[in-house]
This record gives sequence, structure tokens and C-alpha cells, in this order.
Amino acid sequence: MLDFLGDLRRTHMCGALRPSDAGKKAVLMGWVNRRRDLGNLIFVDVRDRSGVTQVVFSEERNAVVHEKAESLRNEFVIAAIGTVKLRDADTINPNIPTGTVELVVEELRILNEAKQPPFLPSDTELANEEKRLKYRYIDLRRDVMQANIELRHKVSLAIRDYLASQGFFEIETPFMTRSTPEGARDYLVPCRVQPGTFYALPQSPQLFKQILMISGFDKYFQIVRCFRDEDLRADRQPEFTQIDLEMSYPQPERVWETVEGFLTAAFKTAGHGIKTPFPRMDYDDAIRQYGIDKPDLRLPAFTDVRDCFTPADLEQLAINKDLPVLAIRTPRVGELSRKERDDIKPLFVSKGGARVFEDFKRIETKFPEGSARVRQKAGAEADDLLVLVVGSAQSVRDDHPAGKRKVTPAELAIYASAGLLRVALAQKYSDRHGIFKKTGDPAKDYRFLWVTNFPMFEYDEGDKRWMAAHHPFTSPHEEDMDKLESDPAMVRALAYDVVLNGTELGSGSIRIHRQDIQSKIFHALGMTEEEAKSRFGFFLEALEYGTPPHGGIALGLDRIVMILAGADSLREVIPFPKTAAAKDLMVDAPTPVTDAQLRDLGMGVIKKPTT
Ligand code: ASP
Repeated sequence: MLDFLGDLRRTHMCGALRPSDAGKKAVLMGWVNRRRDLGNLIFVDVRDRSGVTQVVFSEERNAVVHEKAESLRNEFVIAAIGTVKLRDADTINPNIPTGTVELVVEELRILNEAKQPPFLPSDTELANEEKRLKYRYIDLRRDVMQANIELRHKVSLAIRDYLASQGFFEIETPFMTRSTPEGARDYLVPCRVQPGTFYALPQSPQLFKQILMISGFDKYFQIVRCFRDEDLRADRQPEFTQIDLEMSYPQPERVWETVEGFLTAAFKTAGHGIKTPFPRMDYDDAIRQYGIDKPDLRLPAFTDVRDCFTPADLEQLAINKDLPVLAIRTPRVGELSRKERDDIKPLFVSKGGARVFEDFKRIETKFPEGSARVRQKAGAEADDLLVLVVGSAQSVRDDHPAGKRKVTPAELAIYASAGLLRVALAQKYSDRHGIFKKTGDPAKDYRFLWVTNFPMFEYDEGDKRWMAAHHPFTSPHEEDMDKLESDPAMVRALAYDVVLNGTELGSGSIRIHRQDIQSKIFHALGMTEEEAKSRFGFFLEALEYGTPPHGGIALGLDRIVMILAGADSLREVIPFPKTAAAKDLMVDAPTPVTDAQLRDLGMGVIKKPTT
């Protein structure tokens, strides 16, 4: 028999009772987290989002209530009314904040029963993820998930508060819109009233936020959902949340300050005091030192040890003397067995003929002097792992269209191969070097970085043409404007990424605000005037009506919360996430729709041939 809530007012949160409440009347409402029946005493932990309190039913004190408590099962929803009492010394639980008190129950109302759940919020062992996602409402009752979602709320709030305090307005932009070019596939929404036409869900509010600058709202932000139909990797979700912002008249530094400001607020909320300004690094330097445009500064940079060997040594080792010879140092890995050395080989992804020497000992035996110089130059201690990544001996042709860049394509291949290996080694041996373990010192635990001065274009080897390295609204450097058509390889973009511990948190740019330049960029990207007009005509037109210079950025909220929560998957900080197959297992989406729905839309489904 269920009870009604009736006259009860919520008076206490379950996790909030303290010794100073002893002797007071209290009403607790929540779930039965655990029940221990000792015969004439029944103990129940009542749980709500604030925590648990032990409530006690004593047969001796109140036989009727005690009998009712016998029917309680896991996850029943109850109201327990009684008097707060200090626990006897031998029943104190030092592991929970309410561990010194309990509620002696005088009245029990059973507000709802529960079927035996497929797993319990109080289970110490985690159910498999499919089950957790299917029964997400049970999973979200777990204290870790409650804490993650609370953290997410607090982080969003801190960011909003900070941006509002700096004069930013939060302005909504449409979800039913047209395709924006962030490089992924669009999710499409068919339009019933104009059969055969589609809205696209925004991959980002990019064009709208630029239009808001044209509309005179000179500081915009939005914590906003974006939709990208991509093949999902472990750290991607088809819909995800960005902290999106745009401002008029900024230098990049103004955007960076703003981001540093809201990240400081967000990290403070989570208890970490971070230092600003973040260091800055040119893209070319990031590549030369780390082989990647999102370097993890917690790990040592490479050392180019080409000059440690004699030309004869290099020749004997079949190393290309015109390309970097990179020593990757992973601290404190210790001596590797033969088998362990073999395990390194599959971690190496060779680009452009790059080779790896995973057995530095062997080089040391053959070339003791050169190797000693390598150790010294790389600053390697005896127990550090040293691995070399080099170019193969055959000569490099650099008649590539990007051959004149500071880092040539042939060099880039070596740096990039080494960059991936550096990270893979660090991950593999993280237990040994311990660098990824949190120290409690934010300056060491959170290594932020701005990476700037990216190339404007990337060369697509397949299509033999230049592609925008960022979205095509990114402005080139003013000094490089004249090279747009004559020498696209050398044009730098006014683009920047903010990186944390080797993860890209966000990217942005100063935008093109002149219609003639925007048209030029479309042209440089191989778009005909008609194509540009049909895709972005409205935007090109808007640019002609007095567009202020503007720029902005977008950061992934999910990722920031994930890092702050110390979680290892985005799914741990998104209340209702999708699986790697883009499914919502709880509501069972996506699903087929009825023929009638399709008919309304003037659509049919073509079965893809199975291959
Ligand atoms: N719209 C870009 C993105 O979503 C960010 C930006 O340039 O502001 O990646």
C-alpha cells in the first residue's frame, strides 16, 4: 500500500544532517540505498542527490513502523520522519559526512515501490556500459554520475557568469538551418511543407555568430549543441556542446584573454587555481618540438640529434642526413626486455618513409661516442627510454607544392611520425613515468597552451588541390594576403587552438570581414562563383552591409568537464549520450518511421546494398 506525500514538507537533504542537528525532528525523502535487517533493528540508508543518511527502525520503540520497514526494498522512494540522534560510538561511519548521526524513525511513508533494478546505484562494481546506457536513469542515480552532472552544471554556470560579467550576451541561434562547413557530414531534417527540401542541424553556429557581429551585438556567446555526422571515435559524440563566442574588433589576444578568464572561473569551480596567460607557440615550433599541433607539455620535447653523429655514422645507419634525427625521451621507463622492444614497433606509424630505432642500446654499442652525445643533448638519465625516429636514406624530393615551408613536407613526415610515437610511448608506459598522475599542483597538472600561426591551407594529395586548414571564414595574416593566389603554401591563418595536456580544447580565428577577400578565399579553395553564391550567397551579401572586423572561438564543454571530473570518456559527463554507433540505448533511437510519416515528407527509404 503506497502512501501519499500529504502534509510533508521537505525539510532536510539526506547528505546534510550533522551532529548539531541531534535532538531535532527531521523529514528525509529519498531512495532506499541499502537495507540491513538485524531482526528487531532495521537500518536503511536513505539517498538523495546530496548523499545518504542512515535511518533506524526499532521494533522496541515503534513496532508498527518497524513492521512497515520490513517491506522496504532497494530503490523504494520513502519519507522517513523522526528524530536525529548521535550514533553510538561503535556504529560511527567515518567514510560519509553524515556518519556520526542517524534518524530514529517515528513515521514511515512509502511514496513508491521499485522493481528490482538491473543494477543498483550503490553497487561497487560497475555494470557493463550498454546496460548503464539502457537504464541511464538508474545509472545517473550513482553518486559519481550525480557529482559529474553537478560539476557540469557548476562549470557552465561559472562560464556564463564570467562571460556575462565581461559584457557578453547569450544569444540563441537556430537548430533548423542550412549546412555550415565545419568539415563533417550534416544531420538533415526533411521539411514537410516543402517536400524534397531539408534543413541541416548546425555543425556549429559559425555563420550566425558572424552575422550577429554584423547585427551589432559585439560580444556574443552561447553554450550550444552542435551536430556532426562523423564516424565516431571514442572521444566524439554526434551531438556535443560548445562554448561558442564571437566578438567585434578583437586582436587574437583579446579572444585569448576572454577564454583564459572563463577557463579560470571554470577550473576554480572545480577547485583548481590555474595561471594565466597561457604560453603561446607557433604551429611550426609545435611541429618541430612535438610533431603535433596539440602538444602535451607534460612530456619532454624531442631533441634533434642529427649533429651528434658523424656523416659516416649516419651513412652506416642508413639515416638521411638532410632530415631531422629525432630522439624521443620517455622518462623513467627503465630497461626494456627484447619483447617489450618488439612491442614498440606496432606503435610506430611511419609517414613519408620515417624509420624507428627502438633499440638504442644497439646503437650505443656500435656508435658509443655519437650515442653519448645523444644522451647528453637529450638530457637523458640512465633509466629514460630513448628511441630515434629518422628519415630513410633515399633522397627526398621536395618539389611538393608546400616544399618552401619552414617545415617541409618531408620533414613534417618525420616530425609527425615521431609525434605520434612520443604520445603512444607515454601512454604505454604511464605507470612507469607517472607523469600523467595528478600532483595537486594545477601548474603541473594542467598544462595549457595556445598554438597559433597555422598554415592557411593544406594540400590534398588525392585531389591535388589546396583545402582550408580551418573553416573557410578564417582570415589570412594581413602580410600574407598578396600570396593567396601566387603562393598559397606560405599563407598563414589568423587561427589559434587552445590545448590542454595534449588535447585540443577549442579552436578559433579572426574572421574575414571583407566580401572581396571572402570571395577570393572561396576561389582559392577551388569554389566557382556560382557554387560560393549558392552555398553562402546570403553571407557574402551580409558582408557587404558594413561588417565590423571580428573573431571568436569555440571550446568543447563536454571535454572540459570530462577533464575536470577525471573521467575517461565523454559519456561519463553527458547525461544522455550516444554509443559509438550513434545510438541512444535508453530511448532506442534512431528508429525507422512509419510509411505514413515518410509519405507526408514525400520520401522513401532506399535500402543500401550490403557489401
Ligand atoms: N566554428 C568553429 C568550430 O566549431 C569554431 C570557431 O571558429 O569559432 O570549430
